[in-house]
Amino acid sequence: MTAHIIDGKAIAADLRARVAGEVARVKREHGLLPGLAVVLVGNDPASEVYVRSKHRETQAAGMASFEHKLPANVSQSDLLILIDRLNVDSAVHGILVQLPLPKHLHTETIINAIDPAKDVDGLHPNNAGRLAGGFAALAPCTPLGCIILTKSVHPSLEGMNAIVIGRSNLVGRPLLQLLLNENATVTIAHSRSRDLAKLCAQADLVYAAVGKPEMVRGDWIKPGATVIDVGINRLPREDGKTRLVGDVAFAEAKEVAGAITPVPGGVGQMTVACLLVNTLRAACAIAGLPKPGV
Ligand code: NAP
Repeated sequence: MTAHIIDGKAIAADLRARVAGEVARVKREHGLLPGLAVVLVGNDPASEVYVRSKHRETQAAGMASFEHKLPANVSQSDLLILIDRLNVDSAVHGILVQLPLPKHLHTETIINAIDPAKDVDGLHPNNAGRLAGGFAALAPCTPLGCIILTKSVHPSLEGMNAIVIGRSNLVGRPLLQLLLNENATVTIAHSRSRDLAKLCAQADLVYAAVGKPEMVRGDWIKPGATVIDVGINRLPREDGKTRLVGDVAFAEAKEVAGAITPVPGGVGQMTVACLLVNTLRAACAIAGLPKPGV
């Protein structure tokens, strides 16, 4: 039996539509127009593609979108001045600095300068700490998307055994916290973990966030488990173009798993949709309104 393929594209489209509905409601009922500012430093082609898609989706959801493009050689102090300006701009409820930044900029200092109430990427230590403490927080978008995809298959994760492979601040660590909040039992693995295959074989939920093409093999997966593949790896094709593959050997794993996300068409679709959710939530919180219905 082959796995149910979790349709990230459809789930993200549904989420974006629900965000748009809530944006229309807060506009109508409270005169609130949520706004997202995205800061792009330099002209890395992949970052430009992400920023364009964020701009397009923000506008499509009915929110205000502000793009700030800075030259690759911008000074740290000029970038901090822009962030300070966005922190006090009442039309801006979410601030996202597109990563990675050029080497001469100190990423931690830049992230720490963002008002935590507007930190829609969920990377500020205040938000990371609140999430770790089990308090309400803006959580990073990709792990949020992973939870929504999982819950499309398992509405309750209580008592399930989960393994998160990868411990980055962007994905693995916040995903661990979100899974704990859902009352899952979580193992977190990384490059120093021993016998990953054996650890995976015990998991009802497998999250791969490593950045190594097809590292998780089909025979690591417990029959019937749900597999969420966060990895985005570009491999060369014979025609000189590239193809995307995840961190999971999809063709093998889908023969064993109960449900699995494809790459592309899985987690990647959810990240921008969850950014819209975070912007709407931040706008409502800043305006003193109740948490929106998404
Ligand atoms: P990262 O910061 O490079 O972290 C990778 C993690 O994988 C680290 O914790 C590392 O362990 C661990 N790791 C490396 N080799 C390993 C191995 N052989 N066995 C077990 N663990 C290993 O990457 P990231 O930012 O979390 O991203 C991970 C992947 O997700 C990438 O492919 C990225 O492109 C993708 N991604 C996708 C989205 C999306 O929207 N779909 C968003 C973000 C990231 P150590 O800590 O020990 O070094």
